[in-house]
Amino acid sequence: LGSARTLWELVTRRAALTPDRPVLLQEDRVLTFDALRTRSERVAAGLYGMGVRPGTVVAWQLPTRIETALLSFALARLGAVQSPLIPFYRDREVGFALRESKAEFFAVPGVWRGHDHTEMARRLGARGVFEAYDALPDGDPATLPPPPAEGTSVRWIYWTSGTTSDPKGVLHTDRSLIAGGSCLAHALRLSSDDVGSMAFPYAHIAGPDYTVMLLLYGFPAVMFEHFALPDALAEYRRHGVTVAGGSTAFYSMFLAEQRRQPGVRVIPTLRLLAGGGAPKPPELYHCVVREMGVQLTHGYGMTEAPMITMGDPEDTPENLATTEGRPPAAMEIRIVDGEIRLRGEAVCQGYLDPAQTAAAFDEEGFLRTGDLGRLTGSGHLVLTGRLKDVIIRKGENISAREIEDLLTAHPAVADAAVIGLPDRARGEMVCAVLEQPPDTAPLTLSEVVSFLRAKGLSVHKLPERLEVVEALPRNDTLRKVLKYKLRERFSRPLP
Ligand code: ATP
Ligand code: MG
Repeated sequence: LGSARTLWELVTRRAALTPDRPVLLQEDRVLTFDALRTRSERVAAGLYGMGVRPGTVVAWQLPTRIETALLSFALARLGAVQSPLIPFYRDREVGFALRESKAEFFAVPGVWRGHDHTEMARRLGARGVFEAYDALPDGDPATLPPPPAEGTSVRWIYWTSGTTSDPKGVLHTDRSLIAGGSCLAHALRLSSDDVGSMAFPYAHIAGPDYTVMLLLYGFPAVMFEHFALPDALAEYRRHGVTVAGGSTAFYSMFLAEQRRQPGVRVIPTLRLLAGGGAPKPPELYHCVVREMGVQLTHGYGMTEAPMITMGDPEDTPENLATTEGRPPAAMEIRIVDGEIRLRGEAVCQGYLDPAQTAAAFDEEGFLRTGDLGRLTGSGHLVLTGRLKDVIIRKGENISAREIEDLLTAHPAVADAAVIGLPDRARGEMVCAVLEQPPDTAPLTLSEVVSFLRAKGLSVHKLPERLEVVEALPRNDTLRKVLKYKLRERFSRPLP
């Protein structure tokens, strides 16, 4: 099935193979592969009746639900260009995305979690606003034009998280998303007996990747519109989830739940926690494996290439704890001056803004990721930081990540972010910002410095300033720390 040219072709081929097997599970609802095909086709006909044509840009800001998947596949059936937006985004991000993508239609959930999305869409002057929560557009599939014949035109505009600058519109094709999903499926060594889970926003680039994996292997996943423990655990048990998808914050939540019930396996059927996209402290890996009795694999991806490397569940604990795994055969990785560069089918076509595209790809067509890393002798990728997250103090490059990894190993540190602040004498100075566990005495700069010294950190990398905050500012999707906010908050005007 991996040879399918378009997502729609993948759906129809899977529906012909195992029509009655479930693909999406949500509370008491079950969607089969055949129902995914037939229901999406009706939605596609409804959209066609509204004026959506191949190539029409349709933005949607919808939660993780079966209906959202149906709408998304209906757009794929039509060959429209879809732009998924995370439901937590508000006026600033949504307005930006609608303007930049020139969306002609915008699907919203109405009032969702107390926020009136329809009203927000009107306020932003969005065009073609329609609600797609319970009721979806509907029509007679006989009225539809043929499905798209090729998967190489741009049909997806995803938005980067905006961690380092304004979000960038990333252009994907059906082909690049199928390639990413195939890589993920192979890397995780899954089979048709597995039961997955989607505890991340379906509007995230991981959504189609994950769904491609379900289509290739023919197994189902449980969707969570609201993910909260311990209720979610009951859902995992009810559906017999074997592989849970998520990211670092999500592993920690599971682990905390497991610690409340020592001796019982909180999800008896679970064998693999698989995720990625955000830094994972090595200790977390060991704790999860030891205390939960499940394997954990973590990978490296970005909106521009959702599956770059992934840990192989059969690899050694050392590699799984300290690396992001290896790239699949279809992904070429090259390290140039410390920066990771990528080429392969699963890499995006570029950005909405042609100037950004021109700047991002090198002469040989490799994408500059802006991430720093190295490959070990065995070809495993170790991430060492971000290009934009290097502190240059007295001309020496200092990786924030190296210091953060040491700090998070301190028992009185829940999380740490290290930033460079402007400093007249040194160019930049190293500032450590800490989040501490509740009821812990605040650490002082000298305590932190002696701890880091004892860990062997070079003198020129030692923090010169310490800030303890209640909570680090994070984004809504993967809970990544927004360092630009910290820099804004703690930068003082140069004397
Ligand atoms: P922007 O590009 O708008 O500044 P962003 O890069 O955070 O935002 P995403 O595409 O959502 O937007 O995130 C991709 C980035 O996340 C990667 O480039 C990398 O820096 C980081 N990342 C991904 N996987 C991991 C991982 N396993 N460990 C650490 N960081 C990771
Ligand atoms: Mg990025």
